[in-house]
Amino acid sequence: MTTAADLLRTSPLPALETRVLLMHVLGWRRTELITRDHESLDAKAVERFEALAQRRLNGEPIAQLTGKREFFGLEFEVSPDVLIPRPETELLVETALEAIADTPNARVLDLGTGTGAIAISIAHARPDAGVWAIDRSPAALDIARRNARNLLGAAHAVTFIESDWTAKLDPSLRFEVIVSNPPYIAKDDPHLTQGDLRFEPRGALTDDADGLSAIRIIIDTAPLLLAPGGALWIEHGYDQADAVRHLLTARGFTGVRSIRDLAGIERTSGGAFIG
Ligand code: GLN
Repeated sequence: MTTAADLLRTSPLPALETRVLLMHVLGWRRTELITRDHESLDAKAVERFEALAQRRLNGEPIAQLTGKREFFGLEFEVSPDVLIPRPETELLVETALEAIADTPNARVLDLGTGTGAIAISIAHARPDAGVWAIDRSPAALDIARRNARNLLGAAHAVTFIESDWTAKLDPSLRFEVIVSNPPYIAKDDPHLTQGDLRFEPRGALTDDADGLSAIRIIIDTAPLLLAPGGALWIEHGYDQADAVRHLLTARGFTGVRSIRDLAGIERTSGGAFIG
């Protein structure tokens, strides 16, 4: 017989990853890994665990193996069709929520929504807000729509639109805040060939150019869609804050600043557009 204790002892994966995959395969809570660790496991479950462990050893991200990732206290479905939500992106959600703290029924636009993590987290924290979320990938939108239904309920206030940036968005709409975590990795950045990134959609990671081309489009377009005094906040790479602040200032944004993530890296930059 094989027990969870056996697998925890013999797995070649880091202990945390072994625990996450075991909980997933067995449908157990973290505490059950302790209280039930000497139970004989179903042979099928052991096989499933071993198959997933092998895929992990081949580099597949844990979130794709379990099909989920927590973000802003919510559990999002993920797949190889979407960027896996990152903890540092919670900063963008917090910043957007601050920007609309005093605005009832605020309108929010999320460009390149992927899993929907940013848009749905904002809608969850502010049920009075109207949230629009755009992605050009129909496969990503399927996941985002499911996440919205599961996390916000059937009557949720997120409008999903399949569009290349704002091309198909009603141009008469106006937003108090626009947010985006666009593809910002430069096309020749070696990170694209390392770790989890190898398994994520390339179009969610890189603009296949200098890393700033999506950010330029967003900064150019946002003023046309912002309500007077509305704010734009963009996540960017660890070395792009200067360039993004420069682009925002050149486009006429005011109060332009960057905010550091928990690792101390300037991770999101933004400003307001008075008009
Ligand atoms: N933050 C991701 C990474 O560096 C990239 C996400 C993005 O391009 N928006 O792994």
